[in-house]
Amino acid sequence: MKTTVVRAGWVGCVLALSACASALLPAPWAEAAPLRYAVAYTRDSTPRLDVEVFLPRGFPREFLFRQPGRVVSLAVVDEVGTRFEVFPRDGVVRVPEGTRVIRYHYPLASSPRGGGRHLFGGMGEGDAWHVAGKAYLLTPARVTPGMRVDLTVSGADALLPWRPGDAGVYHLRGEDLIDAGFHAFGGRRCEAHVGASEVEVALLGRFTHLTDAEVCAWLAQAGREVLTVRKAFPYPRVTVRVVPVPGESAPGVFGMTQWSAPPSISILVGQDATAASFAKDWVALHEMLHLTHPALVPRQAWLTEGLATYYTELARARSGRQTAPQAWSELTDGFARGRAAARSRPMKEVIAEEGNFLGIYWTGALFALHLDVELRRVTRGRGRLEDVLELLATRGPTATLARFGEAVDTVAGQPLFDALLARHLEAPAFSEEGALLENLGVRIDPGGITLHAAPGSGLREALEGGRTPDDAG
Ligand SMILES: [Zn+2]
Repeated sequence: MKTTVVRAGWVGCVLALSACASALLPAPWAEAAPLRYAVAYTRDSTPRLDVEVFLPRGFPREFLFRQPGRVVSLAVVDEVGTRFEVFPRDGVVRVPEGTRVIRYHYPLASSPRGGGRHLFGGMGEGDAWHVAGKAYLLTPARVTPGMRVDLTVSGADALLPWRPGDAGVYHLRGEDLIDAGFHAFGGRRCEAHVGASEVEVALLGRFTHLTDAEVCAWLAQAGREVLTVRKAFPYPRVTVRVVPVPGESAPGVFGMTQWSAPPSISILVGQDATAASFAKDWVALHEMLHLTHPALVPRQAWLTEGLATYYTELARARSGRQTAPQAWSELTDGFARGRAAARSRPMKEVIAEEGNFLGIYWTGALFALHLDVELRRVTRGRGRLEDVLELLATRGPTATLARFGEAVDTVAGQPLFDALLARHLEAPAFSEEGALLENLGVRIDPGGITLHAAPGSGLREALEGGRTPDDAG
């Protein structure tokens, strides 16, 4: 469709009264009209996304690729139809005065394919592609709270984190462009249901043994295990993209959850995986458990990864997928790997080390265990770490560390969080582990884990059992 450029603001008033008021007053552009994105999938020569961005009159002229690199030039058209070429500098794009349309292509195929772990930059085959929204969406450099965005997709069936409105238009807020999550173009679909919630799944490639229904059954199982931690599945609808990895037979090879609203999950699955191998998988459950806690702002990976890692073992014991000794064996093996990565340094140094995944995940998991034990101890079993997550869920999709701590103290009925955290942060990582396990009656013997009677063994059984039938309502 050709866009007619309307020179006087009042002409638009005939069409939309709300826009009229904004046009007559010197109101911010954001209230007048949405920024519009038209995304078209094409495989004309090579698979790519052709993106057009239509700017409302007077829209700020600075944009950026939040993950720069793939787009080398953009064409912009101003209101009298003059065309310019613009080149991003470190991802930043400054368009000329009067720009109304920005056009660019985003190539989806990585070159070279580099091991197939390009969750952000684009990966896939044939007509099934995976890409992170922030990689290909040019976003305004400054996003204001009132900013509205309309986005359409053509050329392929897309699975974005959001549900489209009438006529397939995604009505978004400016901030959705910043945390744009994972996107799928093409591929097949299946659905998993968890209680009243829906998990929509895009399958982006071929598997040698798995059927689509088996993949969805696996994700439904992980979703049901989330219900051993939270009273209800945390979102009415989430999307999961599953990408096969050639030459791999592990069920979950790698997974990631992005904080779009709602969050979006992508999982790499071995192309040669079998349905039987899903019984031992933890990757899908781990990613879904990230839905049980708020996004921590600023990021506190040790805490969010610690929560997901801790509950991955408990939830599998609670659902019966592993025995209690197996769960404790997984946890203590993880603590041992974390301790090796921590090399006797204090937890605060370990978690500050970017890329020390074992140290970050497992110091966090030990802290989550300790926090859960202390909460149950001081409340005589009435307050649990799960209750902290339920409480935080009533307070919005994000939390600061301080707000997380306040929620812990509310459930505890007394100050608890800061002192316990300081104890862990300042001491050599994992120095709390021995006494904690001893009290719970968890012993690491040469032949494996032994669970025995101890002052805290009743509490340990409560951890393994999860929510009691009384909690069901
Ligand atoms: Zn994680």
